[in-house]
Amino acid sequence: GTRKRPLPKPKWMKETIPGGAKYAAIKAKLRELKLHTVCEEAKCPNLGECWSGGETGTATATIMILGDTCTRGCRFCNVKTSRTPPPPDPDEPSNVAQAIASWGLEYIVITSVDRDDLPDQGSGHFAETVQRLKTLKPEMLIEALVPDFRGDPSCVEKVATSGLHVFAHNIETVEELQRSVRDHRANFKQSIDVLKMAKEYAPPGTLTKTSIMLGCGETPDQVISTMEKVRAAGVDVITFGQYMRPSKRHMPVSEYVTPEAFDKYRVLGEEMGFRYVASGPMVRSSYKAGEFYIKAMIE
Ligand code: SF4
Ligand code: SF4
Repeated sequence: GTRKRPLPKPKWMKETIPGGAKYAAIKAKLRELKLHTVCEEAKCPNLGECWSGGETGTATATIMILGDTCTRGCRFCNVKTSRTPPPPDPDEPSNVAQAIASWGLEYIVITSVDRDDLPDQGSGHFAETVQRLKTLKPEMLIEALVPDFRGDPSCVEKVATSGLHVFAHNIETVEELQRSVRDHRANFKQSIDVLKMAKEYAPPGTLTKTSIMLGCGETPDQVISTMEKVRAAGVDVITFGQYMRPSKRHMPVSEYVTPEAFDKYRVLGEEMGFRYVASGPMVRSSYKAGEFYIKAMIE
């Protein structure tokens, strides 16, 4: 085959160093609670910004439920894969809810692997975690970043009505690249339908949200037409980040998109009527989600 060298990393892909008093307090408490965060496990460069809560003091973190093994294998993702992951821990919703409630964060993103092996795709486990957390700490802002549940309306409904503030599901890439980037069980229409259903089922005021990785080989026109379709599905929030290859076994980076191009998509998204747009090379779908949420809701 062709042995193409990986693209060199541009200077704007710098990592920031975590800091701040709130960050230190949250980190100390985390050790005590034995909670595992995606922020730490993925060595996310935004950790200092997210955990310190920014201008609004809304500290954000991401945790993963339903285990560490996914039934799917997307070409960009570093999560372990198996057809038959271990069954979910029935005590997890209650344990995770207690830990989060006592942790001192304002905004939590709860996400998971895909669980095509479970009859309810894991949706019941999600809903129970949100409900228990709401009961323990009613003022907590909760985002669920969920799989497509194979487009099953009853799964979407269960999560959308669980009491969350933001229903997030990532379309990951532009419409044209779905097959080459995501697992073959995922597709654009199914994901758009999930977001539409969530908007329909969730109580008024609930936001829907999706994310796209750039640098997978998409063209700017494809990004724009995908944004238009997402907006037409009633999605409130969109985020853009740079795809970064987790290892040589994963899909290569096609391009490092410039900060200026990320800015253009942010401005365009705001013009299209998204409630907020987070867009930048280091942005992850949960990047400063609490701070952005508060700013979007007071506007
Ligand atoms: Fe955690 Fe997401 Fe923020 Fe990274 S971007 S620190 S994973 S909340
Ligand atoms: Fe990774 Fe999600 Fe794809 Fe599973 S479904 S491989 S967790 S991106």
